[in-house]
Amino acid sequence: MLLREVEYAKPASVADALALLAANDGARALAGGQTLINVMKARAASPDMLVDLNGLDDLRGIDLAADGTLTIGAMTTYTELVRSAEARARPILGEVCATIADVQVRNRGTIGGNVCSNDPTNHLPPLMCAIGAQMTIASASGERTVPADDFFLGVYLTAVGPGELLTKITIPAGKQDGFAAVTLGTDGTCIANAAASVNGSVRVALGCVDAVPVVVEAGSVDEVGDAVERAELQPPSDVHASSEYRAHLAKVLAVRAARDAAGSN
Ligand SMILES: Cc1cc2nc3c(=O)[nH]c(=O)nc-3n(C[C@H](O)[C@H](O)[C@H](O)COP(=O)(O)OP(=O)(O)OC[C@H]3O[C@@H](n4cnc5c(N)ncnc54)[C@H](O)[C@@H]3O)c2cc1C
Repeated sequence: MLLREVEYAKPASVADALALLAANDGARALAGGQTLINVMKARAASPDMLVDLNGLDDLRGIDLAADGTLTIGAMTTYTELVRSAEARARPILGEVCATIADVQVRNRGTIGGNVCSNDPTNHLPPLMCAIGAQMTIASASGERTVPADDFFLGVYLTAVGPGELLTKITIPAGKQDGFAAVTLGTDGTCIANAAASVNGSVRVALGCVDAVPVVVEAGSVDEVGDAVERAELQPPSDVHASSEYRAHLAKVLAVRAARDAAGSN
C-alpha cells in the first residue's frame, strides 16, 4: 500500500474548505499534490484528511488590473501562468514557471502550493520576495494580507496557520526582473538560485542559502556582489554543494539575476 488510509473531502466552496480545515487538526489542503502526495508516500507527512482544493474556481485565475497589478489565484498552475496573456504583464513569472521540473509537474503544481510548501530549493519563494508579492490568507474569521517578506517563516513553514488557506497572490506592476539558478541537471532542483527586481534600487532574494529567502538590497547592479558579501551567508552543506560553494554561487547568481533584471546581461 502506497499511502496510509486518509479521509478525503472535495469541498464546493472556500467557506466549506475552511470549515473542514478548522474542524480537523489533522487536515491538510491538497493543491497539485506534487509535494504533498510525495511526502505522504515517503511517510514524511501523514495527514488524517485531505481537503482537495481542485473544485474551487474562486482560487483560480489571473486578473490584470488597469494599473498593471496582477492577482493570481492560489490554485493557478505553472502551465496556466506560462500560457496566460495577462501574466505576461510581469514576464518573469511565466519565464521561471517554465523552468520548474517537467511538464507533468507544471500541469499539476500550483503557485499556492509552491509557496505554501516553502521548500528552500523551490523557485517561487525568492521570486515572490524579489517582486514584492502580497499574500492573501483566509480563515473562518476573515482575510489578511501578508507581504512575501513576512510569509516565509521556516523550512516548510509559512504564515498560513491551522484552519487557514492562501487564496490569492497580488503582484505589483513591473518588468525589470531577473532570475538565475544553478540546478541539478536541466530544469532540476536548485542548488542555489536568485531572483532580482530593479525599481530605482535593486532588490535580490536568494534561495537555497537559508530556511527562508534572504533579501539583499543594493543601490545599483554594480553593488549587488558587495551587498551579498555583507549578508554573511552561512548556507547549509549537502551532497550537492558545500556551504562555501553555495555561498559563492549565491553571489554569482545574485549578480547574474540583477544584470538580467537591468537588461545588461
Ligand atoms: C519531480 C519533481 C520535481 C520538482 N522540482 C521542483 C523545482 O525544481 N522547483 C520548484 O519550485 N518545485 C519543484 N517541485 C515541487 C512542485 O513545484 C510542487 O508543485 C510544489 O512544491 C507544490 O505545489 P502543489 O500545487 O503540487 O501543492 P501540494 O503538493 O498539493 O501542497 C504542498 C503543500 O502546500 C499546502 N497548500 C497547497 N495549497 C495551499 C493553499 N492554497 N493554502 C494553504 N496551504 C496550501 C499543502 O497543504 C501542502 O502542505 C518538484 C516536484 C516534483 C514532483
